Amino acid sequence: MPHPSFPRNIAVLGSTGFIGQKALDVAARYPDRFRVAALAAGSSVDLLGGQARRFGADTVVVADPGRAGDLARALPAGCRGASGAEAVAALAARADVDLVVNGIVGAAGLEASLAALRAGKMLALANKESLVLAGELLAEAAASGGGAILPVDSEHSGLFQCLDGHDPSRVSRLIITASGGPFRGRSRDSLDRVTPEEALAHPVWPMGRRITVDSATLMNKGLEVIETYRLFDVPLDRIEVWVHPQSVVHALVEWTDGSLLAQLSAPDMLLPVQYAMSYPERWPAEAPACRLPDWKELRFEMPDHETFPALRLAIQAAGLGGTAPAVLNAADEVAVEAFLAGRLPFLEIVEMVASVLDTVPVRPADSIRAVLAADREAREAARERLEARTP
Ligand code: MG
Repeated sequence: MPHPSFPRNIAVLGSTGFIGQKALDVAARYPDRFRVAALAAGSSVDLLGGQARRFGADTVVVADPGRAGDLARALPAGCRGASGAEAVAALAARADVDLVVNGIVGAAGLEASLAALRAGKMLALANKESLVLAGELLAEAAASGGGAILPVDSEHSGLFQCLDGHDPSRVSRLIITASGGPFRGRSRDSLDRVTPEEALAHPVWPMGRRITVDSATLMNKGLEVIETYRLFDVPLDRIEVWVHPQSVVHALVEWTDGSLLAQLSAPDMLLPVQYAMSYPERWPAEAPACRLPDWKELRFEMPDHETFPALRLAIQAAGLGGTAPAVLNAADEVAVEAFLAGRLPFLEIVEMVASVLDTVPVRPADSIRAVLAADREAREAARERLEARTP
């Protein structure tokens, strides 16, 4: 694992999004340890321009080429602007950058992750799609270029912290926790008519709309099992999900002697972001303390696979390998959008994903092109099903 000395030059990709802004909060709190060299975002050029001014970035990229002119007007003097997906990936490989924070949402984050790992960088990775769609490509890029992934998702950061410094051959099981979402404890029948408003009322984590619905179906946890499988190279049958409504324990490692190591912290994404940036050091953080006596109880239960079949479906896709996880992810995105638009009942989200996974052929995920083709094919298959069921 490369861990360059401080101060570290960083590139923050997706800097105007939730994770990107947390990364800049860390850089602002520790200005002597980070130099923000470059920023990239999808389209929010005014916010990008403000960030460039505040942090003194020398290069800023907007992914949407249509916003290049607006970006040029928003940038401070002396700051270079560029646009397009290739320019974003180029930032990740820049010779003077030590650490890349990838907080891009969606498949647009793939190229940048690969570029960072091929160039031997530390990659603080929040972009789920990188691991779910292209886990094998990422592993190859890291092996050939010498880069390494520092997970930013809370559960994977927890596993990473528990495993650090230990012999991986002594692992018996990796366990990630799930809050269970707003419908924990409900029967399948009772979810027949739930509305988008009910599904969007997540009890613990404030998040985007798709991931919140994915938490209600447990598909998000299924995607996180795939991420765990890719990050830590442990067989699928040794990865478990425990439902833990308080979300204080994020992950546990069970060792061959039966003992467990767990990572606990207040549910605040600043912590995993900061740890990925400060690794292998630990610094004071702007986050609430985790006072266990303040919790009346911490509960754990096994997931209800009958009410929430998404978890097993995701594990099945991971087992199929190749482009199957890309198909699962794309079909789910279309189904969730349809649910949010009132075009698909809640219980049919996962049914639709299962049916797309059944019909779209699985191919080797040996190039970004193959992965993106599977993504497109799955979206089309999901949309066709949607058209067929809408009167
Ligand atoms: Mg998570």
